[in-house]
Amino acid sequence: MTPSKPAVQLIDRFGRKVDYLRISITDRCDFRCVYCMAEDMTFLPRAQILTLEEIYTLAKAFAELGVKKIRVTGGEPLVRKGALELLQKIGSIDGLNELAITTNGSQLEAMAASLKEAGVKRINISLDTLDADKFKAITRTGDLQKVLNGIQAARSAGFEGIKINAVILKNRNHLEVNDLVQFAVNNGIDISFIEEMPLGIVNQHDRSEAYYSSDLIKADLARNFSLLVSAEKTGGPSNYFRISGSQTRVGFISPHSENFCSTCNRVRLTVEGRLLLCLGNEHSVDLKKVMRANPGDMAVLKQAIIEAMLIKPEKHEFNIHEQPVILRYMNMTGG
Ligand code: SAM
Ligand code: SF4
Repeated sequence: MTPSKPAVQLIDRFGRKVDYLRISITDRCDFRCVYCMAEDMTFLPRAQILTLEEIYTLAKAFAELGVKKIRVTGGEPLVRKGALELLQKIGSIDGLNELAITTNGSQLEAMAASLKEAGVKRINISLDTLDADKFKAITRTGDLQKVLNGIQAARSAGFEGIKINAVILKNRNHLEVNDLVQFAVNNGIDISFIEEMPLGIVNQHDRSEAYYSSDLIKADLARNFSLLVSAEKTGGPSNYFRISGSQTRVGFISPHSENFCSTCNRVRLTVEGRLLLCLGNEHSVDLKKVMRANPGDMAVLKQAIIEAMLIKPEKHEFNIHEQPVILRYMNMTGG
């Protein structure tokens, strides 16, 4: 009897298995968060971005190469026309265990139930403050109440996991970390605090002055909550703590104070079809070019993805005290 062929897997030069893909389905957004974008952004012309069909083909190719989890993000993924249908199609790909999205929550009130029906299991919602004026100042255009309504709609829809993402900046929202955790506890959801990353040039603050480390946040939280160290990992860079007496997990994504690259299991696809091998490096492969030069040829596309693993860098090198070396913004990156 011939042994069955082992499933193809994506393994990089450092022996890390890549089984998680994040796809940015649009660079556009209805917000202009101060850490993510410049106020005056120009977005990509349509011809330069992947069609929904191309995104689906890429998702399928990755799933056939052993990717188990896909997170759809942006820009704001839910402002792209056809996002729901795309999610539905991705959700039905064989072999995928988990479809997740990251959203700013602005469209969730209307869309949460349909997203659940489309097969989305987990949802991350960005929320940096519970103060409506500060929310407007940070997002430049956002309406806090809409997002809060969106979070309640997501809770009613019954996702397997809902998590708040909060980027904490000194003197902007660092005094709110306890309120944000209390909000998560009250709503029975998780929360992750993210250190700002130097992606693209922002003009409203100096990133090194705004840096507020995960350790400072933990010390602030320790005054109100009992944080229990948790060994749980969700396949991401977060280190988790449990809040004693609640279901809430508090995660810390600390690209500066704690390098998480050794366990990196992910790659990112930009809406231009560029496969980014690392958040903090420019190493990439143009999969749109491969696809458009070889229409319908899944084997060629899969080979290009396998070969891309050879240039996945060992780790990111962020230095918030210098001008960013990565000129692409987070909305282009698929954060
Ligand atoms: N628009 C959606 C949202 O805001 O959730 C999805 C895309 S957004 C780029 C994904 C996540 O990246 C958000 O949680 C946002 O707060 C975070 N983010 C954006 N720019 C960042 C930066 N420079 N450093 C760290 N996190 C950033
Ligand atoms: Fe838009 Fe998300 Fe970037 Fe804010 S963080 S500008 S909501 S893409």
